[in-house]
Amino acid sequence: MTPNSSASVNLYDLSFNELTEFVQDIDLPSYRADQIWEWLYRRYAKSFSMMTNLPLSLRAFLDEETVLNSGKVVSRQESKDGQTIKVLFQLPDNNFIETVLMRYEKRRTLCISTQAGCAMGCVFCATGQMGFFRNLSVGEITYQALYFARLLASQGEKVTNIVMMGMGEPLHNYDNTLQALDNLTDSRGFKLGARKITISTVGLVPAIRKYADERRQSPLAVSLHAATDKERDRLIPINRRWPLSDLMDACHYYIHKTRRRITFEWALISGNNDTLEQAAALGKLLQNMLCHVNLIPLNPTAGYGGQPSSRFRVTAFQEALSKLGISSTVRVRRGIDIKAGCGQLRDRMLADRGIAIEETAGNQQSNH
Ligand code: SAH
Ligand code: SF4
Repeated sequence: MTPNSSASVNLYDLSFNELTEFVQDIDLPSYRADQIWEWLYRRYAKSFSMMTNLPLSLRAFLDEETVLNSGKVVSRQESKDGQTIKVLFQLPDNNFIETVLMRYEKRRTLCISTQAGCAMGCVFCATGQMGFFRNLSVGEITYQALYFARLLASQGEKVTNIVMMGMGEPLHNYDNTLQALDNLTDSRGFKLGARKITISTVGLVPAIRKYADERRQSPLAVSLHAATDKERDRLIPINRRWPLSDLMDACHYYIHKTRRRITFEWALISGNNDTLEQAAALGKLLQNMLCHVNLIPLNPTAGYGGQPSSRFRVTAFQEALSKLGISSTVRVRRGIDIKAGCGQLRDRMLADRGIAIEETAGNQQSNH
């Protein structure tokens, strides 16, 4: 074992096959990869010293030549009822990402980030308002799940579901997101069912088609938020590139290829997309489609004046959909008291530290 090009490899960035190659490259038998994988993804080891079935010399080598940590927790907040925990990770290059744990009766759902910032610029979204910094590596995506898996394990609990609905657009970081998904579903390690990990997209049409071709079991959610191009163009700039007709074609293609239903996300904004006209247009758009709609009253953000729809409007919208044969669920907003909306904790933390967000954004952008 001589130090080589492996210097500062982040082991969480590797697939199982890459880890096996790594182990073979340093002339070790491949079963060492199985052991390390198990330590990482089943026992959530924090350090190499915990990996007691590895020879001391290998532990020392790994310690010297590789890294395990993919982020430092700089803020942790719990909602008043203790059911929602939000963590802000600081990455080695001073980017920040957020992860949220939501405890339901039976489920322990994690909302994880796939990018630092986001390039899509949806006007109502705190992450969209901050702009794009960079893609997360595979390890930076999976580490969020491992951090909470460790925390839950200490209470005898497990992560049961993951939604890729934190910061960033998962399909804009396609390869790393899907490798992270593979690492988290690997039966030798973390072993989460592929059906338990939902990928949410703003509607990147070519990527949706590519994902459909892979015929994976991980569900797809599409953030629709408006049913006419005129309205959607205003909320979601990427709609000008791939308008609703292209997006719906891609969604039909996905359903046809996978036989899986799509969940459409709809943030209800008072007086904006909560009208009966929009409900009627949505009903038309989703006619005879294998799908479900999640209605989420808007979470207000600093950079956007919109407000959540009233309970009355939410009910009226849902009833209108129901009459058109569209099934929907109204999602309760979780962790509002800790600003658990996408991108909001980072903004507040930087503000608390007196760091101008624009200035930090400039610095961060120069990093990549
Ligand atoms: N980029 C992906 C996934 C991350 S955003 C996507 O857009 O789907 C996750 C979800 O949160 C999306 O449905 C997004 O539209 C929604 N969202 C963003 N900001 C919101 C806000 N202020 N209130 C309610 N939902 C919001
Ligand atoms: Fe990006 Fe999704 Fe926010 Fe749009 S809603 S800016 S795609 S994170």
